[in-house]
Amino acid sequence: MGDNRKAMYEGWRKNGAHSREWQAIVEDFLKQAFKVARGPVTLCSCLDCKNGSYKTRHVMEEHLCRFGFMPDYLVWHKHGEQARRRISEPAQQNRDGMMMDMLNDLAMGFEFDPEEYNQPPPEVQEFYRLLEASDEKLHDHTEKTVLDTVLRLMAIKSKHNISNSCFNDITKTGLGMKYEKIDVCPSNCMLFWREDDKLSTCRHCGKSRYIQVKNEAGENVDTTVSAKQLWYMPIISRLKRLFLSMKIAKSMRWHKERRRGSQSEDVMVHPADGDAWKALDEFDPKFARDPRSVRLGLATDGFTTFSTSASPYSCWPVFIMPYNLPPEMVLKDEFIFLALIIPGPEHPVKNLNVFLRPLIEELKQLWTAVKAYDSYAKKEFNLRATYL
Ligand SMILES: [Zn+2]
Ligand SMILES: [Zn+2]
Repeated sequence: MGDNRKAMYEGWRKNGAHSREWQAIVEDFLKQAFKVARGPVTLCSCLDCKNGSYKTRHVMEEHLCRFGFMPDYLVWHKHGEQARRRISEPAQQNRDGMMMDMLNDLAMGFEFDPEEYNQPPPEVQEFYRLLEASDEKLHDHTEKTVLDTVLRLMAIKSKHNISNSCFNDITKTGLGMKYEKIDVCPSNCMLFWREDDKLSTCRHCGKSRYIQVKNEAGENVDTTVSAKQLWYMPIISRLKRLFLSMKIAKSMRWHKERRRGSQSEDVMVHPADGDAWKALDEFDPKFARDPRSVRLGLATDGFTTFSTSASPYSCWPVFIMPYNLPPEMVLKDEFIFLALIIPGPEHPVKNLNVFLRPLIEELKQLWTAVKAYDSYAKKEFNLRATYL
């Protein structure tokens, strides 16, 4: 990327008499964009589309001529380029500050000392490897870091409406956070997942799984671009990771061991005081006996604000929170896990069960138990969890 990219904006003329440099850049841009595109369409970067809709090469060229480039698109990061330069200084500085805060939080949380053990469990080693990797990149301002991505995910919580491009922005996994993109029927009837993974049309409404474009004969043809996608970030690995920190592993027992006798009976200060908690204790005493059994809260941002802040490109994050932690920790960002990003624009609540399927599959596993390592007790245990 050279300074000649300025011509993207300086070379465009309202009357269509664009400069030669501008034309050369558009040619470069289209070549680059369609080199990395997965099909005959890609995001259009014109002032009208603003990387918000997919167009064919021909239409994109027309749009760019007619409207010019969208502002601040000197780095073509939606079209295969890494951000190599600070585009907006104040925003970048703000982000760096927030990232430092997050790193400090992480450092405080993870006091596990691998030298205590001759051979730390593989998960512990993997965690440290990831932590190091994210740290390294943090000091290199030249490309998106893992932490940057985590931060973006966190920002979703404070913002109810996010452009569709948020899905494309999340290009990396954060601190070992794996994610899965699952195609959804455009009408939210079903997921193209597991036994339905090979289908190309919806079993219920027959709509195509893929974006369609018209060919020269005017017929609709499938592209390889999915019409709608659900983002799913598995929670088991993250729950296990909580127990890798001695401090957090200890805090996960708080609801049972430390709080006893500290509050008067009739004041509800923690979900452990609630009826749902007590009912679960009675339902499964074995689950209740281990203080490490995790009780999860499920939160869906944006549902209530839909009517006032509806935008055509919104998405709906679903969060999971371990309620075992003491009140001062339970609502901290790092203990609120983003589990799903449900694509908009429709209110997802009608079809919520469709979208929750992958999460429910994991919860079934967690109800039976998964192997985890407890850094506080310094041994493996059977981790169980359920939601209240
Ligand atoms: Zn356009
Ligand atoms: Zn359908």
